[in-house]
Amino acid sequence: CGVFGVFGVEKAASLTYYGLHSLQHRGQEGCGIVSVDNRTFHRVKGEGLVTEVFNEDNLRTLTGNMAIGHVRYSTTGGGGIDNVQPFMFMHSTGDFALAHNGNLVNSFQLKTFLEERGSLFHSTSDSEIFAHLIKKETDSRDRIFPILEALNMVEGAFALLIMTASKIYACRDKHGLRPLSIGKLGDGYVVSSETCAFEVVGAEFIRDVAPGEVVIIDVNGLQSVDYSKFKHYNMCAMEYVYFARPDSDIEGTNVHAFRKETGRMLYEEAPVDADIVVGVPDSSLSAAIGYSEASGIPYEMGLIKNKYVGRTFIQPSQELREKGVRMKLSPVRSIVEGKRLVIVDDSIVRGTTSRRIVKMLRQSGAKEIHMRIASPAITHPCFYGVDMSTYDELICAREKDLEAVRRLIGADSLVWLSPEALYKAAGGRKELCIACFNGRYPTALYQSIHDVNKD
Ligand code: 5GP
Ligand code: SF4
Ligand code: MG
Repeated sequence: CGVFGVFGVEKAASLTYYGLHSLQHRGQEGCGIVSVDNRTFHRVKGEGLVTEVFNEDNLRTLTGNMAIGHVRYSTTGGGGIDNVQPFMFMHSTGDFALAHNGNLVNSFQLKTFLEERGSLFHSTSDSEIFAHLIKKETDSRDRIFPILEALNMVEGAFALLIMTASKIYACRDKHGLRPLSIGKLGDGYVVSSETCAFEVVGAEFIRDVAPGEVVIIDVNGLQSVDYSKFKHYNMCAMEYVYFARPDSDIEGTNVHAFRKETGRMLYEEAPVDADIVVGVPDSSLSAAIGYSEASGIPYEMGLIKNKYVGRTFIQPSQELREKGVRMKLSPVRSIVEGKRLVIVDDSIVRGTTSRRIVKMLRQSGAKEIHMRIASPAITHPCFYGVDMSTYDELICAREKDLEAVRRLIGADSLVWLSPEALYKAAGGRKELCIACFNGRYPTALYQSIHDVNKD
């Protein structure tokens, strides 16, 4: 998912619309905006793309100089309008709205705890838990106290925006798993999952929200509060590898630069004699350029993407995904025929894309197909909000070894990047989350009663 917020700028909702539009790659199932005008909350939300849900008429109803918005990609809770954010809550101590990117790992425990105390959940999304935790007790203390307490009860990944009648609270989980950045715009501020959205609204990047930090944005400017002394910089490596837009900077590293560097290292780790390098559009183009530059093998457009098909991965079912790949990618026969190809892709999750590509390229006359993957083999599920949450769906977890994966995909050779290369590409940092590649999860993992009963 993606979140975007504006504080203290006229027509905040229109700016949020543009912000969400540039975060569209983070979720295509639904989106929404809540604005505040003179302490009154207004909301428009719906299923579909930003350009489908919003129009001039409904944007006009979103008055005020504060707004938050959300684009949704469901990992827990499934689809449906009830799960489309921002969520809005009316409460005697003050209304508020919230928008969340990420996944909590103790949502089952917290939900049970809250339901026993009388909470009634509207949605199946774990994001709603924040609201119930904040409102656990009706108290008259400053709002920041229940927020800090709530943040200390949740475990997992979140970039979270909470908007009250006069403030926006921008919060990040203490492991720093999901990105969240703050920009300056005129006399006000914007906050976004990715910095690419600053460009489009004309904002200037100020800084990232730190792990374990809440940045309070109000008429006094920015104020910072740490809710936890336990802080780690375990940014999700998949944000760099696949998820984020190449023009975004995440914690000081540009995403395109990261990918290009992984492509260079991929060549160093797994060189091959070939005629051309072809990237799988769009997310692998940066890595393919890096491989081509490092090897001196020319880069060619051997695969064309139909721009009018959304991201296949984001389709929630396997059947839709298979159809998606077929509609989305076409080989260019005049380029690949008779050639030895290096095909660079950013990752293999279920194997749908690679299998299909190899088959299409062979049908178009490719002589040899050498797959090079710009990330390590995904052997473990993600519990932090990237849609690969079971062992069964991961081809590299299911098969007994990587040679079996190569055979299934049908490539002449298939090599993945080393985990060390990911750290290097992120500027030598050692604290990335790479749990889906090595099974070392940065947070505790809780078992639900259902899982316990199954064992
Ligand atoms: P597969 O087809 O193997 O299931 O998925 C791999 C393809 O999906 C790659 O081309 C990659 O660009 C895309 N992809 C890989 N990882 C992710 C992810 O974590 N999230 C999303 N949305 N797409 C991914
Ligand atoms: Fe990202 Fe993988 Fe960690 Fe999930 S497990 S947060 S996808 S690096
Ligand atoms: Mg791809």
